[in-house]
Amino acid sequence: MNTVASRLADIPAVRDVVLAAATTARAKVRGEVTELGNAMAHAWIITGPPGSGRSVAAVAFAAALQCSDPVELGCGRCRNCLDVLADAHTDVLHIVPKGLSISIDEMREMRKEAAKLPTVAGWRIIIIEDADRLTGPAADAILKVVEEPPAHTVIMMCAPSIDPDDFSPTLRSRCRHLYVPYPSVEHIVDLLVAETGATPEDARLAAVASGRHIGRARHLVTDPAAQKRRATILNLAELIFHRDEAFKASTAFLKSVDKQVKDLSDEQDAAELEKLERSLGKGGRGKGTQKAMDGSAGAISDLEKTQKTRRNRRKRDFLDLALVDLACLYRDALMLSVGADVQLTHPDFEGLSSDLAERVSESGLVACLDAVTQAREHISVNVTPTTAIDGMIGRIRLACGVS
Ligand SMILES: [Zn+2]
Repeated sequence: MNTVASRLADIPAVRDVVLAAATTARAKVRGEVTELGNAMAHAWIITGPPGSGRSVAAVAFAAALQCSDPVELGCGRCRNCLDVLADAHTDVLHIVPKGLSISIDEMREMRKEAAKLPTVAGWRIIIIEDADRLTGPAADAILKVVEEPPAHTVIMMCAPSIDPDDFSPTLRSRCRHLYVPYPSVEHIVDLLVAETGATPEDARLAAVASGRHIGRARHLVTDPAAQKRRATILNLAELIFHRDEAFKASTAFLKSVDKQVKDLSDEQDAAELEKLERSLGKGGRGKGTQKAMDGSAGAISDLEKTQKTRRNRRKRDFLDLALVDLACLYRDALMLSVGADVQLTHPDFEGLSSDLAERVSESGLVACLDAVTQAREHISVNVTPTTAIDGMIGRIRLACGVS
Protein backbone atom coordinates (compact mmCIF):
# COMPACT_ATOMS: atom_id res chain seq x y z
CA MET A 1 0.00 0.00 0.00
CA ASN A 2 1.56 3.20 -1.12
CA THR A 3 -1.31 5.64 -1.09
CA VAL A 4 -1.08 8.94 0.72
CA ALA A 5 -3.76 7.73 3.14
CA SER A 6 -1.77 4.60 3.99
CA ARG A 7 1.47 6.56 4.39
CA LEU A 8 -0.22 8.76 6.96
CA ALA A 9 -2.33 6.00 8.52
CA ASP A 10 -0.47 6.15 11.82
CA ILE A 11 -1.17 9.85 12.22
CA PRO A 12 -4.91 10.08 11.42
CA ALA A 13 -5.15 13.73 12.48
CA VAL A 14 -2.56 14.67 9.87
CA ARG A 15 -4.03 12.37 7.23
CA ASP A 16 -7.49 13.91 7.62
CA VAL A 17 -6.22 17.48 7.35
CA VAL A 18 -4.12 16.64 4.29
CA LEU A 19 -6.90 14.82 2.45
CA ALA A 20 -9.48 17.48 3.24
CA ALA A 21 -7.10 20.17 1.99
CA ALA A 22 -6.30 18.25 -1.20
CA THR A 23 -10.00 17.65 -1.85
CA THR A 24 -10.71 21.38 -1.70
CA ALA A 25 -7.62 22.14 -3.76
CA ARG A 26 -8.77 19.74 -6.47
CA ALA A 27 -12.25 21.30 -6.57
CA LYS A 28 -10.55 24.66 -7.08
CA VAL A 29 -8.34 23.36 -9.89
CA ARG A 30 -11.39 21.87 -11.60
CA GLY A 31 -13.22 25.15 -11.27
CA GLU A 32 -15.93 23.64 -9.06
CA VAL A 33 -15.28 26.27 -6.41
CA THR A 34 -13.78 29.72 -6.70
CA GLU A 35 -12.40 30.10 -3.17
CA LEU A 36 -10.18 27.68 -1.26
CA GLY A 37 -12.25 27.99 1.88
CA ASN A 38 -11.09 26.84 5.29
CA ALA A 39 -9.62 23.42 4.57
CA MET A 40 -6.89 24.49 2.16
CA ALA A 41 -4.31 27.27 2.37
CA HIS A 42 -1.46 28.45 0.16
CA ALA A 43 1.11 28.56 2.95
CA TRP A 44 1.67 25.89 5.59
CA ILE A 45 4.00 25.42 8.49
CA ILE A 46 4.40 21.75 9.31
CA THR A 47 5.92 21.17 12.73
CA GLY A 48 6.85 18.18 14.81
CA PRO A 49 9.86 16.98 16.74
CA PRO A 50 12.84 15.76 14.67
CA GLY A 51 12.11 12.29 13.34
CA SER A 52 8.36 12.58 13.73
CA GLY A 53 8.02 12.51 9.98
CA ARG A 54 7.12 16.12 9.21
CA SER A 55 8.90 15.98 5.85
CA VAL A 56 7.19 12.66 5.09
CA ALA A 57 3.91 14.45 5.78
CA ALA A 58 4.87 17.38 3.54
CA VAL A 59 5.79 15.10 0.62
CA ALA A 60 2.62 13.02 1.07
CA PHE A 61 0.62 16.25 1.10
CA ALA A 62 2.30 17.34 -2.13
CA ALA A 63 1.44 13.97 -3.73
CA ALA A 64 -2.21 14.31 -2.71
CA LEU A 65 -2.29 17.77 -4.31
CA GLN A 66 -0.66 16.70 -7.58
CA CYS A 67 -2.37 13.30 -7.94
CA SER A 68 -4.19 12.80 -11.23
CA ASP A 69 -6.26 9.76 -10.31
CA PRO A 70 -9.89 10.78 -10.89
CA VAL A 71 -11.19 8.90 -7.85
CA GLU A 72 -8.58 8.23 -5.21
CA LEU A 73 -6.77 11.33 -4.01
CA GLY A 74 -3.09 10.50 -3.50
CA CYS A 75 -3.45 7.15 -5.24
CA GLY A 76 0.29 6.38 -5.11
CA ARG A 77 0.13 4.88 -8.63
CA CYS A 78 -0.29 7.73 -11.12
CA ARG A 79 2.75 9.45 -12.69
CA ASN A 80 2.26 12.55 -10.54
CA CYS A 81 2.09 10.58 -7.28
CA LEU A 82 5.09 8.43 -8.20
CA ASP A 83 7.20 11.43 -9.16
CA VAL A 84 6.34 13.44 -6.07
CA LEU A 85 6.98 10.49 -3.76
CA ALA A 86 10.32 9.85 -5.52
CA ASP A 87 11.21 13.53 -5.04
CA ALA A 88 11.41 13.99 -8.81
CA HIS A 89 8.34 16.00 -9.77
CA THR A 90 8.88 18.98 -12.10
CA ASP A 91 6.37 21.14 -10.26
CA VAL A 92 7.60 20.36 -6.75
CA LEU A 93 10.69 22.15 -5.50
CA HIS A 94 12.02 20.42 -2.39
CA ILE A 95 14.58 22.56 -0.58
CA VAL A 96 16.77 20.65 1.88
CA PRO A 97 19.29 23.04 3.42
CA LYS A 98 22.87 21.80 3.33
CA GLY A 99 24.40 24.30 5.69
CA LEU A 100 23.62 25.71 9.10
CA SER A 101 21.40 28.42 7.74
CA ILE A 102 19.23 29.17 4.72
CA SER A 103 20.52 32.27 2.97
CA ILE A 104 18.68 35.19 1.48
CA ASP A 105 20.04 34.22 -1.97
CA GLU A 106 18.44 30.78 -1.74
CA MET A 107 15.13 32.37 -0.81
CA ARG A 108 15.33 34.90 -3.65
CA GLU A 109 15.76 31.94 -5.95
CA MET A 110 12.80 30.23 -4.28
CA ARG A 111 10.69 33.33 -4.86
CA LYS A 112 11.35 33.06 -8.59
CA GLU A 113 10.43 29.38 -8.55
CA ALA A 114 7.23 30.10 -6.63
CA ALA A 115 6.14 32.55 -9.31
CA LYS A 116 6.28 29.97 -12.11
CA LEU A 117 3.13 28.25 -13.30
CA PRO A 118 2.85 24.49 -12.82
CA THR A 119 3.63 22.56 -16.01
CA VAL A 120 2.20 19.05 -15.64
CA ALA A 121 0.08 19.08 -12.47
CA GLY A 122 -2.34 21.39 -10.72
CA TRP A 123 0.05 23.15 -8.37
CA ARG A 124 3.49 24.63 -8.07
CA ILE A 125 4.69 23.36 -4.68
CA ILE A 126 7.66 24.54 -2.65
CA ILE A 127 8.71 22.44 0.36
CA ILE A 128 11.32 24.02 2.63
CA GLU A 129 12.86 21.59 5.11
CA ASP A 130 14.42 22.83 8.34
CA ALA A 131 12.82 26.23 7.95
CA ASP A 132 14.12 27.01 11.43
CA ARG A 133 17.41 27.63 9.62
CA LEU A 134 16.03 30.62 7.72
CA THR A 135 18.09 33.65 8.58
CA GLY A 136 16.15 36.80 9.50
CA PRO A 137 16.78 38.44 6.09
CA ALA A 138 15.92 35.16 4.31
CA ALA A 139 12.61 34.96 6.19
CA ASP A 140 11.90 38.60 5.30
CA ALA A 141 12.68 37.88 1.66
CA ILE A 142 9.86 35.36 1.39
CA LEU A 143 7.37 37.16 3.61
CA LYS A 144 5.47 38.64 0.72
CA VAL A 145 5.28 35.47 -1.34
CA VAL A 146 4.10 33.54 1.73
CA GLU A 147 1.53 36.20 2.48
CA GLU A 148 0.15 36.39 -1.04
CA PRO A 149 1.33 33.38 -3.00
CA PRO A 150 0.54 33.16 -6.70
CA ALA A 151 -2.83 31.46 -7.30
CA HIS A 152 -1.27 28.13 -8.30
CA THR A 153 1.43 27.98 -5.65
CA VAL A 154 1.55 26.16 -2.32
CA ILE A 155 4.42 26.70 0.11
CA MET A 156 5.10 24.20 2.89
CA MET A 157 7.72 24.93 5.52
CA CYS A 158 8.89 22.27 7.98
CA ALA A 159 10.29 23.23 11.39
CA PRO A 160 10.66 21.63 14.84
CA SER A 161 8.02 23.92 16.35
CA ILE A 162 6.36 27.31 16.05
CA ASP A 163 8.33 28.53 19.05
CA PRO A 164 9.78 31.96 18.10
CA ASP A 165 13.24 30.38 18.52
CA ASP A 166 12.43 27.86 15.82
CA PHE A 167 10.31 29.82 13.41
CA SER A 168 9.81 33.43 12.45
CA PRO A 169 6.65 34.67 14.23
CA THR A 170 5.88 36.99 11.32
CA LEU A 171 5.99 34.12 8.84
CA ARG A 172 4.09 31.95 11.29
CA SER A 173 1.17 34.36 11.38
CA ARG A 174 0.75 33.95 7.62
CA CYS A 175 0.67 30.15 7.56
CA ARG A 176 -1.77 27.39 8.36
CA HIS A 177 -0.22 25.20 11.06
CA LEU A 178 -0.12 21.41 10.87
CA TYR A 179 1.39 19.50 13.79
CA VAL A 180 2.88 16.05 13.24
CA PRO A 181 3.20 14.10 16.50
CA TYR A 182 5.67 11.27 17.15
CA PRO A 183 4.51 7.88 15.91
CA SER A 184 3.69 5.25 18.52
CA VAL A 185 6.27 2.69 19.67
CA GLU A 186 4.05 -0.04 18.19
CA HIS A 187 4.04 1.64 14.80
CA ILE A 188 7.84 1.90 14.77
CA VAL A 189 8.20 -1.74 15.85
CA ASP A 190 5.93 -2.90 13.01
CA LEU A 191 7.79 -0.71 10.54
CA LEU A 192 11.28 -1.84 11.57
CA VAL A 193 10.35 -5.51 11.70
CA ALA A 194 8.85 -5.32 8.20
CA GLU A 195 11.58 -3.13 6.79
CA THR A 196 14.77 -4.50 8.34
CA GLY A 197 13.89 -7.98 9.52
CA ALA A 198 14.84 -7.03 13.09
CA THR A 199 13.34 -9.04 15.93
CA PRO A 200 10.40 -7.33 17.67
CA GLU A 201 12.49 -7.09 20.87
CA ASP A 202 15.38 -5.30 19.14
CA ALA A 203 12.95 -3.07 17.25
CA ARG A 204 11.17 -2.15 20.48
CA LEU A 205 14.41 -1.28 22.25
CA ALA A 206 15.49 0.88 19.29
CA ALA A 207 12.10 2.65 19.21
CA VAL A 208 12.23 3.44 22.94
CA ALA A 209 15.95 4.30 23.10
CA SER A 210 15.64 6.68 20.15
CA GLY A 211 12.75 8.50 21.78
CA ARG A 212 10.41 7.31 18.98
CA HIS A 213 12.55 8.95 16.32
CA ILE A 214 12.02 6.72 13.27
CA GLY A 215 15.28 7.53 11.49
CA ARG A 216 17.42 7.02 14.58
CA ALA A 217 15.57 3.85 15.55
CA ARG A 218 16.19 2.44 12.07
CA HIS A 219 19.83 3.40 12.29
CA LEU A 220 20.20 1.88 15.73
CA VAL A 221 18.65 -1.43 14.79
CA THR A 222 20.61 -1.84 11.54
CA ASP A 223 24.02 -0.30 12.24
CA PRO A 224 26.32 -2.02 14.75
CA ALA A 225 28.57 1.08 14.80
CA ALA A 226 25.61 3.17 16.01
CA GLN A 227 24.90 0.61 18.73
CA LYS A 228 28.51 0.81 19.80
CA ARG A 229 28.52 4.60 19.90
CA ARG A 230 25.37 4.60 21.99
CA ALA A 231 26.91 2.16 24.47
CA THR A 232 30.09 4.27 24.62
CA ILE A 233 28.30 7.50 25.47
CA LEU A 234 26.03 5.82 28.04
CA ASN A 235 28.95 4.05 29.71
CA LEU A 236 30.53 7.45 30.20
CA ALA A 237 28.14 7.85 33.15
CA GLU A 238 29.90 4.90 34.83
CA LEU A 239 33.45 5.88 33.82
CA ILE A 240 32.95 9.26 35.55
CA PHE A 241 33.67 7.39 38.77
CA HIS A 242 36.98 5.94 37.54
CA ARG A 243 39.66 8.60 37.57
CA ASP A 244 40.61 9.69 34.04
CA GLU A 245 38.86 6.96 32.15
CA ALA A 246 35.92 9.20 31.27
CA PHE A 247 38.24 11.66 29.51
CA LYS A 248 39.93 8.83 27.61
CA ALA A 249 36.56 7.39 26.61
CA SER A 250 35.33 10.76 25.41
CA THR A 251 38.41 11.20 23.23
CA ALA A 252 37.78 7.79 21.66
CA PHE A 253 34.12 8.68 21.23
CA LEU A 254 34.89 11.94 19.43
CA LYS A 255 37.23 10.05 17.11
CA SER A 256 34.50 7.56 16.26
CA VAL A 257 32.11 10.44 15.48
CA ASP A 258 34.75 11.97 13.17
CA LYS A 259 35.06 8.65 11.40
CA GLN A 260 31.31 8.38 11.01
CA VAL A 261 31.15 11.86 9.47
CA LYS A 262 34.06 11.01 7.17
CA ASP A 263 32.45 7.74 6.03
CA LEU A 264 29.23 9.56 5.32
CA SER A 265 30.79 12.54 3.54
CA ASP A 266 33.86 11.41 1.56
CA GLU A 267 32.03 9.64 -1.22
CA GLN A 268 29.31 12.28 -1.48
CA ASP A 269 31.87 15.11 -1.58
CA ALA A 270 33.92 13.38 -4.29
CA ALA A 271 30.83 12.73 -6.42
CA GLU A 272 29.73 16.36 -6.14
CA LEU A 273 33.18 17.62 -7.06
CA GLU A 274 33.37 15.32 -10.07
CA LYS A 275 29.95 16.47 -11.25
CA LEU A 276 30.95 20.11 -10.88
CA GLU A 277 34.24 19.59 -12.70
CA ARG A 278 32.45 17.85 -15.53
CA SER A 279 29.96 20.69 -15.84
CA LEU A 280 32.88 23.12 -15.92
CA GLY A 281 34.40 21.22 -18.79
CA LYS A 282 37.35 19.67 -17.00
CA GLY A 283 38.79 16.76 -18.94
CA GLY A 284 37.50 18.15 -22.23
CA ARG A 285 39.82 18.99 -25.13
CA GLY A 286 37.81 21.71 -26.81
CA LYS A 287 39.11 25.21 -27.36
CA GLY A 288 36.99 26.65 -24.58
CA THR A 289 38.11 24.14 -21.98
CA GLN A 290 41.10 25.98 -20.60
CA LYS A 291 39.14 29.19 -20.50
CA ALA A 292 36.31 27.52 -18.58
CA MET A 293 38.77 26.04 -16.10
CA ASP A 294 40.33 29.44 -15.46
CA GLY A 295 37.03 30.73 -14.16
CA SER A 296 36.14 27.59 -12.24
CA ALA A 297 38.29 28.03 -9.15
CA GLY A 298 35.60 30.14 -7.50
CA ALA A 299 32.88 27.56 -8.10
CA ILE A 300 35.08 24.79 -6.72
CA SER A 301 35.98 26.73 -3.62
CA ASP A 302 32.28 27.52 -3.06
CA LEU A 303 31.51 23.81 -3.23
CA GLU A 304 34.31 23.02 -0.81
CA LYS A 305 32.96 25.60 1.60
CA THR A 306 29.47 24.09 1.44
CA GLN A 307 30.89 20.62 2.00
CA LYS A 308 32.89 21.75 5.00
CA THR A 309 29.81 23.36 6.52
CA ARG A 310 27.88 20.14 5.95
CA ARG A 311 30.57 18.08 7.70
CA ASN A 312 30.50 20.41 10.68
CA ARG A 313 26.75 20.29 10.79
CA ARG A 314 26.75 16.50 10.68
CA LYS A 315 29.30 16.27 13.43
CA ARG A 316 27.34 18.60 15.66
CA ASP A 317 24.11 16.72 14.94
CA PHE A 318 25.69 13.37 15.86
CA LEU A 319 27.17 14.82 19.03
CA ASP A 320 23.87 16.39 19.98
CA LEU A 321 22.01 13.11 19.55
CA ALA A 322 24.62 11.30 21.65
CA LEU A 323 24.28 13.92 24.40
CA VAL A 324 20.50 13.51 24.30
CA ASP A 325 21.09 9.78 24.90
CA LEU A 326 23.24 10.59 27.90
CA ALA A 327 20.74 13.12 29.25
CA CYS A 328 18.02 10.47 29.00
CA LEU A 329 20.12 8.09 31.07
CA TYR A 330 20.35 10.67 33.88
CA ARG A 331 16.65 11.29 33.49
CA ASP A 332 16.05 7.53 33.85
CA ALA A 333 18.17 7.57 37.03
CA LEU A 334 16.20 10.54 38.37
CA MET A 335 12.88 8.80 37.64
CA LEU A 336 14.08 5.67 39.48
CA SER A 337 15.36 7.83 42.31
CA VAL A 338 12.00 9.51 42.90
CA GLY A 339 10.15 6.24 42.28
CA ALA A 340 8.21 7.51 39.25
CA ASP A 341 6.47 4.80 37.28
CA VAL A 342 7.52 5.70 33.73
CA GLN A 343 8.97 3.93 30.73
CA LEU A 344 12.77 4.22 30.88
CA THR A 345 14.41 5.56 27.72
CA HIS A 346 17.27 3.07 28.05
CA PRO A 347 15.70 -0.07 29.56
CA ASP A 348 18.78 -2.12 28.62
CA PHE A 349 20.89 0.19 30.82
CA GLU A 350 18.62 -0.05 33.84
CA GLY A 351 21.48 -1.57 35.82
CA LEU A 352 23.51 1.60 35.33
CA SER A 353 20.64 4.04 35.89
CA SER A 354 19.53 2.36 39.12
CA ASP A 355 23.14 2.31 40.26
CA LEU A 356 23.32 6.07 39.61
CA ALA A 357 20.03 6.55 41.47
CA GLU A 358 21.62 4.95 44.52
CA ARG A 359 25.01 6.64 44.38
CA VAL A 360 23.99 10.18 43.42
CA SER A 361 21.48 12.46 45.18
CA GLU A 362 18.46 13.80 43.33
CA SER A 363 19.95 17.28 43.20
CA GLY A 364 23.19 15.72 41.95
CA LEU A 365 21.32 14.00 39.12
CA VAL A 366 19.62 17.27 38.20
CA ALA A 367 23.07 18.89 38.11
CA CYS A 368 24.26 16.07 35.79
CA LEU A 369 21.33 16.80 33.45
CA ASP A 370 22.21 20.50 33.55
CA ALA A 371 25.82 19.69 32.68
CA VAL A 372 24.71 17.76 29.59
CA THR A 373 22.33 20.55 28.55
CA GLN A 374 25.13 23.05 28.91
CA ALA A 375 27.43 20.94 26.72
CA ARG A 376 24.71 20.78 24.04
CA GLU A 377 24.37 24.54 24.15
CA HIS A 378 28.11 25.01 23.93
CA ILE A 379 28.35 22.75 20.90
CA SER A 380 25.46 24.57 19.24
CA VAL A 381 27.37 27.86 19.50
CA ASN A 382 30.57 26.42 18.07
CA VAL A 383 32.60 25.67 21.19
CA THR A 384 34.98 22.88 20.11
CA PRO A 385 33.52 19.47 20.95
CA THR A 386 36.53 18.44 23.05
CA THR A 387 36.26 21.54 25.21
CA ALA A 388 32.49 21.19 25.58
CA ILE A 389 32.60 17.51 26.51
CA ASP A 390 35.58 17.77 28.83
CA GLY A 391 33.83 20.63 30.62
CA MET A 392 30.71 18.48 30.90
CA ILE A 393 32.67 15.57 32.37
CA GLY A 394 34.23 17.89 34.94
CA ARG A 395 30.82 19.20 35.99
CA ILE A 396 29.29 15.73 36.15
CA ARG A 397 32.17 14.54 38.32
CA LEU A 398 31.47 17.38 40.71
CA ALA A 399 27.73 16.65 40.67
CA CYS A 400 28.44 12.98 41.44
CA GLY A 401 30.79 13.89 44.27
CA VAL A 402 33.86 12.51 42.50
CA SER A 403 36.90 14.54 43.39
ZN1 LIG B 1 -2.03 9.67 -7.84
